[in-house]
Order: sequence, then C-alpha cells, then structure tokens
Amino acid sequence: MRIGAIEAGGTKFICGIGNEQGVIEDSISFPTEHPDVTLGKVIQYFTDKEVEAIGIGSFGPIELHPESAQYGYVTTTPKPGWENYNFLGTLKRNFHVPYGWDTDVNAAAYGEVVWGAEKGLRSCLYYTIGTGVGVGVYAEGQLVHGLVHPEGGHVLTRRHPQDDFTGICPYHGDCLEGMAAGPAIEARWQKRGFELPSDHQAWEIEAYYIAQSITNAILMTSPQKIILGGGVMQQSQLFPLIREAVKHNLSGYVKAAEITSHIERYIVPPGLGHQAGLYGALALGLRAYKQAAENISIQLNM
Ligand code: ADP
Ligand code: ZN
Repeated sequence: MRIGAIEAGGTKFICGIGNEQGVIEDSISFPTEHPDVTLGKVIQYFTDKEVEAIGIGSFGPIELHPESAQYGYVTTTPKPGWENYNFLGTLKRNFHVPYGWDTDVNAAAYGEVVWGAEKGLRSCLYYTIGTGVGVGVYAEGQLVHGLVHPEGGHVLTRRHPQDDFTGICPYHGDCLEGMAAGPAIEARWQKRGFELPSDHQAWEIEAYYIAQSITNAILMTSPQKIILGGGVMQQSQLFPLIREAVKHNLSGYVKAAEITSHIERYIVPPGLGHQAGLYGALALGLRAYKQAAENISIQLNM
C-alpha cells in the first residue's frame, strides 16, 4: 500500500510516501511560499506516485468541519496567498483518493499515538514550541476539533516575577506563544535560542511559561501523556526544568504516580523525533483509506 503524507508547515512543507506498517519510503522538503508555487510542488511530487490515500497535517487556522463550505481551507492566516485558500480542494482536483485532513499538531499527536511515544494511549497532548506554539489534543481515543480546533499556543500566561518582556503575539502580546516561541526568546534576549548557554536564565523563564500551560492542561483535560517537540525543545535542559515546575505548580494535588513518582515518563520528547508530523499525516491518510474501504463494504452489503 502507498499512502501519501503531507506535513504542511508555515515555514516548510514535507511530503512523503509510506505504508501501513509506518515505514516512510521516500520524502521531500521545500520552503512554504505562495500556495500556487508550493502546491504546484506537492502535486508534482505525488504525480505518478500512485498513492491510494493522502493525509495532511496543516498549519492553520484551518477549517475542519466537513459540513462547512470552507472545509479543507486554510482560513485566517496572514501568510501571503494562504488566507481563505482551498488547500484540500486543490489536491482533490488532482488526485481522486480519500483524504485525511487535520492540524499539524493534531497530526503529530496522532502520529505519536499510532507509531510513537504514545502507542496505545487514549489521550495525549502534543506541544510544538518552534516559530509558533501549537498544541494537538487527542482525548478519549479521538483527535479533538470542537468549535474550531484547539489553539493551545495562545493560552494566557501569568508573568514570571523577573520577566518584564511584553510578548510578541500580534493578537495577545503575552500569551504562551508571545512569551515562549522561538522568536519571543530571540526578541527577549537579542540572541537566537541556540546561542544562549544551557545554564542561562532564559531557560528557567521559558520552562516557567511552558509548565504553566501544561499545569492548566493537566487540570483541565487530564491527559495520559504530554509530548514536547519543536525547535526550542532541542534545548534538552528544558525537560527537567519544566517537569519540576509542573510538580511545583500542582503541589501534590493531582495524585497520579505518573506525576508524583515518574514525571520523566509523563512529560517527554516525541518518540518519532522531528518526524512526528509526517508520520501523523501518514496515519491520517491510512485512517482515511480504511474509512473509505469500510464505507464501500457497507454499501456493497446493503
Ligand atoms: P517551525 O516551527 O518553523 O516548524 P522549528 O520547530 O524548527 O520550526 O522552530 C524554529 C524555532 O525554533 C526558531 O525560532 C529557532 O530559533 C528555534 N530553534 C531551533 N533550534 C533551536 C535550538 N537548538 N535551540 C533553541 N531554539 C531553537
Ligand atoms: Zn497569542
């Protein structure tokens, strides 16, 4: 079986071909430009590949409700050319196969559940801390969409006592993304994240904000695992700082051994490394293929 996978990021696209065992056989990456250019490259890549389904994890916001006339669109992004762009429709005109369609972070969460650190779990959160901050939500065995889709990168924060940085989110200023995404670190310290030493105060402040949102998420939805990916989390010293801050915030209130005794197994890096998104897209494609096959067999049996 050949399933197409697209990790559609705001900075770069990755396209790949994989199979039902979760083996990616081939992949290609290119920068995200105007959709005519970028989708042109995507279509070129999949032409002659004979894929049987395609899964897409996309940057957003995107429209996820099948009953909406805008289903499959990228909606309110400031990225030139992408606002109200019919991403899925453009592909559908070229490849007549079943499609899986979800946010990039939901796809990454799903990839981890199907093939990575979360295997077999019924719930998890996948955070990416990179150019932006996003949170994929998988709960009770389902990817959560809700009203629009979760936008956990923009939760509000309580200021670190030694931090007077005002934040850079164009909507909220000091939301999580405004305070803790890669560009926020750079704006606060006038240095790129990887240029700061691992014992710099930046990382304690960074952990403070991430841990705050994780604490709230634990209290709100009680996930079975929390995965932290994205460029900024390459700073592995953040993991112990975040774990300690979460424990401190919860103060023993949530009595689960995963938190009180072995939090190092509860707040973890992605099992699939930087490929969680692409594997997630593959898993979405595979799921779409299986659903389409089931629908056909139901119709044949009627
Ligand atoms: P994107 O979010 O665009 O998909 P990344 O997840 O790689 O891409 O995130 C890019 C951001 O992460 C940039 O702001 C960059 O400065 C930051 N970053 C990348 N690598 C590191 C690192 N090793 N340490 C700290 N920050 C990093
Ligand atoms: Zn915001």
